[in-house]
Amino acid sequence: MRVLTGIQPSGDLHIGNYFGSIKQMVDAQESSQTFAFIANYHAMTSGGKDLARLTMQCATDFLALGIDPKKSIFWVQSDVKEVLELYWILSSFTPMGLLERAHSYKDKTAKGIGANHSLFSYPVLMAADILIFGSEVVPVGKDQIQHVEIARDIAIRFNNQYGDILTIPEFRVQEEVQTVLGTDGQKMSKSYGNIINIFGEEKAQLKTIKKIVTENVAVEEPKEFESCNVYNMAKLFLEGDNLIALQDRYKKGGEGHGHFKMYLAEVIWEYFKDFRQKREYFEAHQDEVRGILKVGADKAREIALPTIEKIRSATGISY
Ligand code: ATP
Ligand code: MG
Repeated sequence: MRVLTGIQPSGDLHIGNYFGSIKQMVDAQESSQTFAFIANYHAMTSGGKDLARLTMQCATDFLALGIDPKKSIFWVQSDVKEVLELYWILSSFTPMGLLERAHSYKDKTAKGIGANHSLFSYPVLMAADILIFGSEVVPVGKDQIQHVEIARDIAIRFNNQYGDILTIPEFRVQEEVQTVLGTDGQKMSKSYGNIINIFGEEKAQLKTIKKIVTENVAVEEPKEFESCNVYNMAKLFLEGDNLIALQDRYKKGGEGHGHFKMYLAEVIWEYFKDFRQKREYFEAHQDEVRGILKVGADKAREIALPTIEKIRSATGISY
């Protein structure tokens, strides 16, 4: 089974990225052929600030979080240029209406991110990313389900005209972590300034966690946990007795949200402890990271080339 995931180097990675996508990918490495890439062309769609630095940061983070270059093919999107060629070809199989209905585009423009053509056509490039490697499964957060559906739709249209060339992909979402909410209660997103990052400084982390919006209830009162942002974040990291114990603290009253926030900060800090150590290693060995990306790009190209050749020949681009 071929599983593929991409992440934009558009800011610091956050716990939504981790549970919605990276962790699923790391787990999939054991049983599937996994493809993970840093989507630097995609990051340009929402500004692309500081792109070179963030690309290396993102690669370093991925390796620290468990993407293993011995098990996964791991590269930077722009090192396999054929994806841009496929993007163009697929554009002709993409009805305008399909893109006009895309939620992600509508959400981002509603948040004031400039509506340029690349942001609008992002799902077509994403379709090219998925289809050029013959991906069968794409693990995503809920926000990206529609984009995978668009990729399916485009692939079906292409195959209808040229025969069974493209593999029709499927999305995979993990129910419990479909959408991790940010400090403001909206979808956590790198570009929305509402994230809890994975590799932040301890003090800054606590400061961000203190900003999480919570209900205004007196300290002594019992509190709702199911609807509480702080609880829902903690739930990602806790299981069994620890989770029940936290629920009991909410039900009992006598503690304010400040206490739960302190606890959440501790839990998150502890969870990523080993990953932080691994990150320090890769941070100090950036040449090794570059080497890994280069080998990954070569492997990825090797897999993309036969597909793109078939497409060139079927469409008549090769003459
Ligand atoms: P941007 O604001 O630049 O779009 P992002 O935080 O939405 O950044 P992406 O790079 O777009 O992150 O997405 C990377 C992966 O993380 C995708 O699989 C996406 O579904 C997943 N993801 C992003 N945000 C969340 C979230 N809040 N909850 C669960 N999964 C998420
Ligand atoms: Mg996004």
